Amino acid sequence: MYPQSPLMGQMMNQPLLVSSILDFAARHYANSEIVSQRVEGDLHRYTFRDCQQRAKRLANALHGLGVRMGDRVATLAWNGYRHMEAYYGVSGSGAVLHTLNPRLHPDQLAYICNHAEDQYLLFDFCFLPLVEAFAPLCKGIKGFILFGAADRMPAETKIPNLLCYEDLINSHSPEYEWPLFDENSACTLCYTSGTTGNPKGALYSHRSTVLHAYGSAMPNALNVSSRDTVMPVVPMFHVNAWGLPYSVPLSGAKMVFPGPALDGKSVYELMEKEQVTFSAGVPTVWLGLINHALQNKLKFSSFRRTVIGGSACPPAMMSTLIDEFDVEVIHAWGMTEMSPLGTAGGLLTKHLDMSKEEQRKILQKQGHAIYGVDMKIADDDGKELPWDGVSYGHLLVKGPWIISRYFKGEGGDVLENGWFPTGDVATIDPDGFMQITDRSKDVIKSGGEWIGTIDLENVAMSHPAVMQAACIGVAHPKWDERPLLVVVLRPGQDLKREDLLAHFQGKVAKWWLPDDVVFADALPVGGTGKIQKNKLREQYRDYRLPTA
Ligand code: ADP
Repeated sequence: MYPQSPLMGQMMNQPLLVSSILDFAARHYANSEIVSQRVEGDLHRYTFRDCQQRAKRLANALHGLGVRMGDRVATLAWNGYRHMEAYYGVSGSGAVLHTLNPRLHPDQLAYICNHAEDQYLLFDFCFLPLVEAFAPLCKGIKGFILFGAADRMPAETKIPNLLCYEDLINSHSPEYEWPLFDENSACTLCYTSGTTGNPKGALYSHRSTVLHAYGSAMPNALNVSSRDTVMPVVPMFHVNAWGLPYSVPLSGAKMVFPGPALDGKSVYELMEKEQVTFSAGVPTVWLGLINHALQNKLKFSSFRRTVIGGSACPPAMMSTLIDEFDVEVIHAWGMTEMSPLGTAGGLLTKHLDMSKEEQRKILQKQGHAIYGVDMKIADDDGKELPWDGVSYGHLLVKGPWIISRYFKGEGGDVLENGWFPTGDVATIDPDGFMQITDRSKDVIKSGGEWIGTIDLENVAMSHPAVMQAACIGVAHPKWDERPLLVVVLRPGQDLKREDLLAHFQGKVAKWWLPDDVVFADALPVGGTGKIQKNKLREQYRDYRLPTA
């Protein structure tokens, strides 16, 4: 589609395929380990080379089952070595790996599997009841493969054609040549969480996945190296664990999978045992880990760096990690439609002389674009806005790992003049650091002006008694909408509405002040660990704000 030069380069034309990543790790970092907390309850360890051998067995097995290039094979599993084998065994053979989120409702899972036309489903045996619930609704799935050995197979089940993973791969040879094919072929499929309407599929290609792995491993991004021990806490069903199953083997680092044990204590103990240096997850996960460490007066002996994204990292959380635990925080932003990484936080040389407070303000932004992602902000009419750190507008992106359309054309043409509208509202400063003000659907429209909810939540969470906060717009007779703050206090804490509101004085513009505060026991959290503001808005739809 692009014109050819009369003089083309003369380099080897090797397609960018994900199989080459595992081959590289198996050959050049053959003894780097993959350690997994298993659903079985024990710790499993092997090397990249072992992983490659078993992924090849799986590729042979899938071929034997009739899976061909482009066919979709789904997984429903926690982070672990078998899931990793599926990442490579499925995509490496030319089929398409479709990761399913086990926190979704069975009807939603059935919708997604049918929409994707999945042929097989591989799943952790702990999800047997869930698979039994939606399998009858997925007539197109030819077989279900239970991640486990024969002793984990149920004596009786309603699932048709249930196969045992270990038996299946052990009956096939590890002799397998990964096929070479067009790098633009589909590699993995991931559905958006569908907070509004049905979930839509982002269909990544081998090329986009390999480029994203390169881009995200770079020093200005996640900075993964062979000296790291990386624990992806972010699930492999949440946008491919932000690409870590590709960027870690590409870097030769050791990998540690936490399996289903995501509570603070389990994550802490595994980190210590395996000397994890780098991790990644959404803020709600770190809340559990930080609370566990603080309550038990624990320190980290190896943990040095973490990437936090998926929703805004509260400044109070960043400060605790840096000041109490000496853990560097990389605040990153992205989305399913972007593979997912778009920006990553960090300091420039010119920031190094600044005060700690000023540096913190920069680190709290969602960060700088990484090569492979271009971005801009625009007003409602599509006019580009200046990068002055103040003007805010719709954030648009483009690049080789950003979708051009959704799977099967759902939602029609999504691009605006070649740019993908992210649905986020942001500022960009003169150094290129982007800061999300809000999601456009969460912004509070008060008397024709916009109030960003992330700022208000951050101020609330900087109060020592507050554990979590979410701000939503509630109907107001005069101003259309006004902010209502929903707060969860730390255990044993007591706080009055007036005291919390007084804490906002001088920190935000007066007209941004929340009109009211409600104290809740918990906030609704969705399948990827994010607070579901749409649920909160529904819950408080008829809430009457004080009129005085
Ligand atoms: P979904 O859109 O279905 O929730 P994604 O995981 O793709 O699933 O979410 C992407 C969205 O998450 C972004 O558009 C943005 O609104 C939000 N997000 C991601 N990272 C951050 C961050 N660091 N700060 C604020 N918001 C973020």
